Amino acid sequence: MSQEPRPGRERSWRALKATIMHTDRKALWAVRQSALPAAVRACPDCPGTRHRASGRIRVNASGKLLDVWLLLICATCDRTSKVPVHERVHVSSLEPSRLVAYENNDPAVVRELTTNASLAAKNGYRLDWAGTWTLEARTPLHALDGPIPLTVHVGFELPVPVRVERLLMLGLGLSRTAVRRMVGDGRIRVPLALDAKAHRDFELTVHGGAAAGTAPDADPAEPAGTPSGVRGGVGHGARQAAPRPWPHSATA
Ligand SMILES: [Zn+2]
Repeated sequence: MSQEPRPGRERSWRALKATIMHTDRKALWAVRQSALPAAVRACPDCPGTRHRASGRIRVNASGKLLDVWLLLICATCDRTSKVPVHERVHVSSLEPSRLVAYENNDPAVVRELTTNASLAAKNGYRLDWAGTWTLEARTPLHALDGPIPLTVHVGFELPVPVRVERLLMLGLGLSRTAVRRMVGDGRIRVPLALDAKAHRDFELTVHGGAAAGTAPDADPAEPAGTPSGVRGGVGHGARQAAPRPWPHSATA
């Protein structure tokens, strides 16, 4: 067993090691859905403003014309409100599978409509995303050290708008000050402004202290290190406009 390592074998081990190291410098963060957003708008029947998804979609046919509504329920008085999704559309203009999904209250379509910000804007309500998500951040230990940049893919399970700065604080376990400093130093490279709200997948890179020539966080007042595993977060909705009541025609 005192055989010399064969050159081919040596090469393949080196390649494997490189692969492992390469893999190790990638991290996946996932913004996971924990609840659906509330629809915020004044209820005509009570002082409440928060509405939750009922899980139901209503389809009405009049000849070849269809109306499709998403049904929401007032969290205070249980009044049902109808949000128009399609109004007087010809039956042939809808994908048959889409129509079947509407008729069967397909949970994926209910979810899609309930999280649809443009449907909300069109119908004069806003989405409150508070408590709808958690960040699952699998960041390798020592991610902030070493010369090889760490690439982080941030995936969104639901289109919740989250401030980029907040994602970085949660994912890297750093203070706001530390995140701002690292972005300022070019150690964190992110394709969005720190105060922008991301709501779809993007990638960022974290460059190690050695490569950037700066020491990792030495400020004792700030939490250092890189936590791994699941970290939670609570989304903050956009600033609330004065809620308007649902149109009377929207009563189910
Ligand atoms: Zn109500």
